[in-house]
Amino acid sequence: MFFYCEKCKKQYPLNTHAIRCSCGGLFRLHKDAEDVVPHTVHIGHMVTPLVPMQAGPIEVLLKLENLQPTGSYKDRGAAALVNVAASLGIERVALDSAGYAGASVAAYAAAAGMACKVFVPEGVPASVVQQLETYGAEVVRVAGTRMDACAEAKRHLGRSWYYASPAYNPLFAEGVKSLAHELYEQLGKSVPEYVFVPAGNGSLLIGLYLGFMEIGRLPHLVAVQSDGCAPLYRAFREAHGDAEAAEAAPASLFEDPNFSIERPKRLKEMLFAVESSGGAVVTVTEAELRAAQRALGHRGVYAELSAAAGLAAAQKFFPHGKPDNYRVVVPVTGSGFKR
Ligand SMILES: [Zn+2]
Repeated sequence: MFFYCEKCKKQYPLNTHAIRCSCGGLFRLHKDAEDVVPHTVHIGHMVTPLVPMQAGPIEVLLKLENLQPTGSYKDRGAAALVNVAASLGIERVALDSAGYAGASVAAYAAAAGMACKVFVPEGVPASVVQQLETYGAEVVRVAGTRMDACAEAKRHLGRSWYYASPAYNPLFAEGVKSLAHELYEQLGKSVPEYVFVPAGNGSLLIGLYLGFMEIGRLPHLVAVQSDGCAPLYRAFREAHGDAEAAEAAPASLFEDPNFSIERPKRLKEMLFAVESSGGAVVTVTEAELRAAQRALGHRGVYAELSAAAGLAAAQKFFPHGKPDNYRVVVPVTGSGFKR
């Protein structure tokens, strides 16, 4: 396995401390058929249940990623990243995060005996900091937004800290691929018709796309964004010649500055995944998120607000029901217990 630049194809070893190629391009992962990601470091991440739920006129299949050890699907990415890093002798990892990714990497790093440093925007809830510190991570609070935390992390990485960012390090998406393979097995070796994917920095969308590509068939991947921060929706509408809708979609505004994502680093890859699957991008309002979170609660599932995005979008996408033979998967990406 090695990294290569998406632009100039220059190769880098997996233990590179470069964040991206010297030409500015982002890294992708080259993996041969015989390459395997080690699973030496384990904190109990698992095959999560797939349970049906009747949501208004449609039945969906909830993939309960909220049950992962640190409460989100990001454990899949962190498991792969930290396991590979450990096998390469890396002893220090760092990333910027406002929540789940930091928790996942910190937990796996702890289990691997690695030092972990997490740069968080100053306004993150105390419960997030407490969780990170309990895993033994060093938490660096950065004045400003999520983007400021990212900039600060990059400034401090230097040669000694390995950047464990879900957005930059392709080993993260490599781990998320297991979600696609699990769905394939759980659905009797078949691919669902639709998957509704909350799309922040794109690690879930890209991981699912890569995983289903390995299987050889793509479901329609419908990416979901908050209507307050919808850069992918904007790019999707632009690509479909709908300049008016694109113009109306805010690309970087998000009421909570801790979670603002100006422009996902892998926007082009995200758009490509949606387009090649014959999917779409939909936005949901905060009121729709809250309603979906409540509906999940009434099914016995306590999801974080943003983790209800998949359900909110599926209901919006199929307002009058769906064909009976469509299997619609909704990953519940994160547990509500954290915040
Ligand atoms: Zn390059």
